[in-house]
Parts: sequence; C-alpha cells; structure tokens
Amino acid sequence: MKEQVTQCRSAGGVRYELTRKRVRNINLRVRADGTVAVSAPARASVSRVDEFVASRAEWIEDARRKQARRAADEAARPVPDKETALALFAASSARIWPLFAAIRPAPPELRVRDMRSRWGVCDPGKNRITLALRLAAREPELIDYVLLHEYCHFVWPDHQPHFWALVARYMPDWKARRARLRG
Ligand SMILES: [Zn+2]
Repeated sequence: MKEQVTQCRSAGGVRYELTRKRVRNINLRVRADGTVAVSAPARASVSRVDEFVASRAEWIEDARRKQARRAADEAARPVPDKETALALFAASSARIWPLFAAIRPAPPELRVRDMRSRWGVCDPGKNRITLALRLAAREPELIDYVLLHEYCHFVWPDHQPHFWALVARYMPDWKARRARLRG
C-alpha cells in the first residue's frame, strides 16, 4: 500500500484533505488555520470517508467558530516579551512567596516558556516554577492565581481535595479566577 498520499475532496459542503495511513479508524482533525485533515485506512472506501466527513460537518463548523473566537481573544491580548513577562511573574511571586516562606526559605526560581497546554509547572525538587508566556497577557489577579496554584504544589504535588483546600485558604475566590482564565 502507498502511504501518505493526500488527495483533496469535498463532502457535505466540507473541503478536506484525505491521507491514506496505517490507521485503524477514520480520523478527522481541524487544523489551526481551519482546514480539515482526514486520515483513513486503505480499506475505507472514499464514499465511506465522504459520508463520515459529511456527518461531522456541523461539528467541524463548531470547531472552526471556536478557533476563530480563540484567535480573536488572543489578538486582543498581546503577549509581551519574555523579559517583561518574567518581571510580571516576579511581582506576583513576591506577593505570594511570604505565605510559603516557612517551607520555602529561598524563593523559587521563575522561568518563562512558550507553553500552550498549561499555565504553569512546579518542580519542587529544583525549587522552580515555570510559567506560560501567554499568561503574562492576563490580569494580575489571574497571574496571582496561577502562581499560588504552583506554590501550593510545593506542599501537595497532586490535585486532591487537600490541594484545593490549601488554595482556597489563601485565595477563597480561586474558582472564579480559574474560570476567567479558561474563558
Ligand atoms: Zn496543578
């Protein structure tokens, strides 16, 4: 079988790129630019693939709308450079560190990375908190939530109830802040 042969097709008003791969099922993905990529096993006929794509037309439209909204949100919140981001995060860390000074006599090292899937990562062993660059585009109270969240991981590495109880003790409105961060 020839692999990675891509053809352009259209079904149910959806234009898509079909690639034959050694996959078990038909897989559909909406790329960041809104184009649709489909991979399918050799045994799936093109009419079967077309049918599959057509059946997902509404879902694809929805995914594109969400992507467009996310892109507009991000454009409305310009991300500063790493140095500026680090200064913002350091200011937030300076507000939160005193709460943890007893267990972290040395303030943690802060790092900035261009992370997409997480806002922050805590490495207790290295006494380090890594923060997503895009967090710097958000309001200070939301940055504080992420910093506090990561500081609480110095106490509890997991997200069990005892972890959230600790977050709530220092930040009673953490849920509202998290919701704004996600929104
Ligand atoms: Zn966490």
